[in-house]
Amino acid sequence: PHRAFSSSPDSVQQKRTAIVTGGARGIGRAIALRLAHDGYDVTVNDLASAEALLHDTVVEIEALGRKGYAYVADVTSEDEVKALVRASVDKLGPLSTMVANAGICQAKGVFDITPADFKRVLDVNLFGVQYCYQAAARQMVEQKTPGKLIGAASVAGYVPYPLFAPYSTSKWAVRGLTHAYALELGGYNITANAYAPGVVLTDLWERLEMDLVKLAGGKKGQMMEKLTSERVALGRAAKPEDVANLVSFLASKDADYVTGKTFMVDGGLIYN
Ligand code: NAD
Repeated sequence: PHRAFSSSPDSVQQKRTAIVTGGARGIGRAIALRLAHDGYDVTVNDLASAEALLHDTVVEIEALGRKGYAYVADVTSEDEVKALVRASVDKLGPLSTMVANAGICQAKGVFDITPADFKRVLDVNLFGVQYCYQAAARQMVEQKTPGKLIGAASVAGYVPYPLFAPYSTSKWAVRGLTHAYALELGGYNITANAYAPGVVLTDLWERLEMDLVKLAGGKKGQMMEKLTSERVALGRAAKPEDVANLVSFLASKDADYVTGKTFMVDGGLIYN
């Protein structure tokens, strides 16, 4: 008989491994744990400054019954990203999914942005994703296995916000980069998609609010309150897990025919 759906859930299918960059905290940590829950062995990456937290993520992955591996690397270095992919394959086996999540954000007006500010944001948010996609795709093609490339965009990659010119530029570019990878890699059965969160409660958002209070005044917490109550249909900020749920789908077999797209996970943010 015709069966429209596969009878076995992803978790009982073949062993899968993922790399998640920026996995020491926030959205990356939630993605790593969700993928472990889905049956992945996971290499989590972050900067040396976050090494202790990175090891905590590994402990949590292992508590879910999967293998976890902490690997310190700076995604702005192509060589370090190549070494990250090699180390993950050596430790956990062939790579199924790359989640290029690491990102930074800085609030500054267009007259104050220095070349170094702009370059740093592009180095992490755009070139970091490029190095991760490229190294992972090379590995997947060499393995002759299907694969999933998943990158961090943002709603700021659709609609620019004042004081975020470099960040918006980087996230806009991630959408284009992701689509380009999808077009070139479809023949290898490698998909590429990005996720675009709205407001997510993480350290990144905390720092951002502090920057904005300095630049624009007001009280910390007020901006989040106003934004979520007036502009978010669901009336609350996202938890990192809300984003991880979308990434779980994009990494799954159910998303095998989904590629080249960026998906918003913003609680119904109003953009006008
Ligand atoms: P976060 O600051 O809480 O965590 C990001 C992690 O990335 C940190 O642990 C940090 O050390 C790591 N990192 C930074 N630079 C790195 C580098 N060069 N190499 C390796 N690791 C590096 O941030 P988050 O809120 O969890 O954001 C995760 C992603 O989601 C980012 O790409 C961010 O732009 C995007 N995003 C976040 C929000 C939000 O509201 N929090 C909204 C839209 C998009």
